[in-house]
Order: sequence, then structure tokens, then C-alpha cells
Amino acid sequence: MNRNQVLPQVELSTDPSALRKVDFCAPQSYLGKGFLAITDLPRLAQEVSRLEAGDGFEWGVETYFVDSPGASNPHQILKFGLKGRIHMICQRCLQDCPVDLSRECQFVMVASEAIADAYPIEDDELEPIVASQHFDLLGLIEDEILLSLPLIPKHPEGACEAYASSFGETEDGADTLQKAENPFNILKNMKKIS
Ligand SMILES: [Zn+2]
Repeated sequence: MNRNQVLPQVELSTDPSALRKVDFCAPQSYLGKGFLAITDLPRLAQEVSRLEAGDGFEWGVETYFVDSPGASNPHQILKFGLKGRIHMICQRCLQDCPVDLSRECQFVMVASEAIADAYPIEDDELEPIVASQHFDLLGLIEDEILLSLPLIPKHPEGACEAYASSFGETEDGADTLQKAENPFNILKNMKKIS
């Protein structure tokens, strides 16, 4: 039996506050997409080094029901995808660095914590979550963004120099200084830096 053909499909609101309480106990499935700014995600906002225009996440969510063997009710599957950009401190040069993130996840809605705990984990692509009438979908999206953050954010290989040389150095001044200097002194200074 395909429940999707008999159950209504409801479009999710793009309003972040509406995503804080989605009724996943209602006999209906959901479809939606939108954009979340960093300011809509308070826990993520603490991880970013600065805000640039366009920083944030496009999201898409879809739910549908599947029959599962041995269960009296079909399970609701929640699928979502995220794609976005934030800025973090590069751990190599300590300058801001853009971090692009994308993630796709799938969850299965279950009725209680006990069922979630007992859920077979061999299928690690399908994580159980407890359905509720006021499900914090925004919180779940933010969890997944936080999980996908790099432990050690870095510019791509070789890109740090571009930031370092444009930061805090007056190239003209350094040039005149080097011309007047004994080449061996320059060599000594270079060793100190490395
Ligand atoms: Zn860097």
C-alpha cells in the first residue's frame, strides 16, 4: 500500500520559527525548502568568525511513509539536504576562511525514546528520531550543520599566503628595507620566520 497516495502532502513554512514546531504525528507528509541565515541558528552563530553577505544554508526537506515488516503502522521517513557557507578562523593562518558545507541525511520517525534506543543500527543511513506534535525541525537541521563543521577549519592548500601577505604588511616599506640590508641578514631573518 502506498500511503503517499492517500495522505495529504503539506508544504513546510519557510519561517524559521514555524520550523521549531512541526507536527510529525499528523497523518500527512511534508515537502519544503528555504534558506536559513546564520542569525536564525543561534548555536551555529557562536561558531562563526564573522558574517558575510550570503552566509547561511539552503535546506530541502521531504517526508514520506513506508510500510515496514512487522509494524502495524507505516513509518514516516524524513529526508533532508543542506548546502551553505559560513566563515571560521583558519587554523593555519588565523584569518577568516570560508567553509562550504553540504549534507544529506535520512531519519525514521518512531513513537518513543524506547523504540529509538532499540532501533536496529545495522542501517546506519537511517537514524531513528522520536516524532512529536511540536517537533523542533530547525533544531535538528542546526544539529546536522554543527555535526558537519570541520574540526580544524583551513584555507585550501596554498591559499593562506594570499591572506597573510595582504595582512598587516606594508610591502613598499619592506622593499626599501631589504635593499639596504646585507643579504646574509635577510637570510638570517628568513630562518627565524620559518
Ligand atoms: Zn589560512
